[in-house]
Amino acid sequence: MKITDVRAHHIRIPYDAGVASFRQGASAITALDMVIVEVATDAGLTGWGDAFAYVSPRTTRSAVEEMIAPQAIGLEVPDAAGIPAVMEQIQRNLHLFGRYGITMFAISGLDIALWDLAAKIKGVPLHRLLGEIRRPAIPAYASLLRIGAPDNIAAECRKALALGYGAIKLHETTRPVVFAAREAIGPDIPLMVDMNCPLSGEQAIAFATACRDAQPMFLEEPVWPPEDFATLADVRSNGGLGIAAGENACTEYQFRQMIDARAVSHAQPSVIKVGGITEFLKVAALADQRGVKIVPHSPYFGPGLLATLHLLATRDDGLVEMFYLKREACLWGGRADVDATGHVVVPSGPGLGYEPDRGVMERYRVG
Ligand SMILES: [Mg+2]
Repeated sequence: MKITDVRAHHIRIPYDAGVASFRQGASAITALDMVIVEVATDAGLTGWGDAFAYVSPRTTRSAVEEMIAPQAIGLEVPDAAGIPAVMEQIQRNLHLFGRYGITMFAISGLDIALWDLAAKIKGVPLHRLLGEIRRPAIPAYASLLRIGAPDNIAAECRKALALGYGAIKLHETTRPVVFAAREAIGPDIPLMVDMNCPLSGEQAIAFATACRDAQPMFLEEPVWPPEDFATLADVRSNGGLGIAAGENACTEYQFRQMIDARAVSHAQPSVIKVGGITEFLKVAALADQRGVKIVPHSPYFGPGLLATLHLLATRDDGLVEMFYLKREACLWGGRADVDATGHVVVPSGPGLGYEPDRGVMERYRVG
């Protein structure tokens, strides 16, 4: 079976996050922009992938069309055992366009589609190719957008718990909101604090120390720049809290540097950024070997979310990150949402398990 075409679809779905937003600044997210990668074959089977896009959908899309499609069209579709070699060759072929960032996001999109195809050819759900299923549904955490005001934070935390969520992550950078959240959810609900890289090492140690009594499970990306693993390690050893990072790291190679530096207690590979399922699996194996926990980055709703569910299904622990917002439409007919017990069911159909709704794709297509 040969690959006959690789297409990148830019889909833009509006969302409502109430009092919260990521609508300001350079990384404003005014809608859910995604780039879905469609890999067609001469047997009529289609594989679906997902390449990180947020504020760069046109750039990601052209990276898939200009860099990835010529690498993939005409290739024999590999089985699961053959995917890593195919992907390594493509990484080698494209290395001069950047080992991290957009190039790797586009590579991730192809990789996920190849795994979807490999599982569909076998007629099994993706997780069956990855190992024994340990969990048919994955506990989710509500990944709140930036809110700011302590009263609003407390109200949003209570709403999330009422919906069934059993864990909360804030995207905040001040001490009062962290304590407001802890007070609202009580002592037993896991609380995480994602800072998105604003601080120096010294500031981050002070912030971690000040937040200790609120008992966050971890502080995520407290330090600028994200690849300063030595400073992150310093914050981890002197701040007294767990440290999470990894959404801005690509490939196992960069995670190895992070883990060798003892920078993190929790590694956060993002399947649509890190290099796809192939690199995610390598990162997870490394983290397991080194006693680092895996808590994937997955604030997205395309094929990458489904891939994350399959990856977590074969593990005993690890929460799935669910972006806490209401989207106007769903590619999966509402099947990849959190249930009243705070879990997301792992799809059991062939490949990723669900096919994207072509009607939704057409209605929200850009370009
Ligand atoms: Mg984050």
